[in-house]
Amino acid sequence: MFDINQLIEKIREYLPDVDTNAIRKAFVYASKKHAHQKRKSGEPYVVHPIGVASLVAELRMDVASIAAALLHDSVEDTDATAEDLRILFGPDVAFLVDSLTKVSYLKYQDRKEKQAENFRKLLLGTARDVRVVVIKLADRLDNMRTLDAMRPDQQERISKETLDIYVPIANRLGIQWIKSELEDLAFRYLNPEQFMKIAAEVEKSERPRRRFIEEVKVLLEGRLADTDIQAEVHGRAKNIYGIYQKMLNQNKHLDEVYDIVGFRVITETKSQCYDVLGIVHDMFIPIQGRFKDYIALPKSNGYRSLHTTVVWRKDKTARNLEIQIRTRDMHR
Ligand code: MN
Repeated sequence: MFDINQLIEKIREYLPDVDTNAIRKAFVYASKKHAHQKRKSGEPYVVHPIGVASLVAELRMDVASIAAALLHDSVEDTDATAEDLRILFGPDVAFLVDSLTKVSYLKYQDRKEKQAENFRKLLLGTARDVRVVVIKLADRLDNMRTLDAMRPDQQERISKETLDIYVPIANRLGIQWIKSELEDLAFRYLNPEQFMKIAAEVEKSERPRRRFIEEVKVLLEGRLADTDIQAEVHGRAKNIYGIYQKMLNQNKHLDEVYDIVGFRVITETKSQCYDVLGIVHDMFIPIQGRFKDYIALPKSNGYRSLHTTVVWRKDKTARNLEIQIRTRDMHR
């Protein structure tokens, strides 16, 4: 059976003085309340709230959020009441669980873009506290990870809803890893054939790609170290869904896009963004028409960043690098 100490250790990494009693109490309560329930996979139900709580800990949320994650389905699915939780765990945890219960009663039916946007607004409005939204995202991610046990029609509906509602929310909150994992999981159910094809290609080239990312990162960091610009460089491979989007949007073949890597340079000030751009364009040849200045001309959702695509060459090989440059403030 699950060892609650694993979760507590995870929390201690960022909250060394955490009051572990609150967590243990929520765990025991959830285990007792869900004791006779099973998930579709046949596992004991409590595995799910524990999974959600560890995701919430990975996101370094406060103790109330972790307790709420452990308790998040208890009012909806057991005889526990909001009042019970208030008495046992205090008003903050009870408020979070109550909001999560309300959010779970919202039903998303329509598939039109406008409706999706309205539903996102409704969800964010009902949630009120950003912690509720984060726990809800963790809930969705844990459900997507175990979607295999559901019927095909449910898999399709839930995956569609994930792409329409939860991916944009993860994106808005800037939680990139949840966004990409949700996209790839949903894509796997909605378009299994394309998913397998791209995944196979990506897997074949994984190690050289990782080495390549490291090589470019070192090169960029080296060059920035010669200046007095304080900047961080992050490199990453595109997720499977991102590759697929690129194939659709730019009408390209898998061969041309599967190994595109992206880099993000985070600076302190706006003028440093333009300095970094100058350095990047001096180091690599930029591709015509791919430079976008979303700092001077922000996107309608407020997004600000410089985008450019440049060509990296070594011996006889050439690869495209997509580079985004922004300040820490814009990043947030
Ligand atoms: Mn749940």
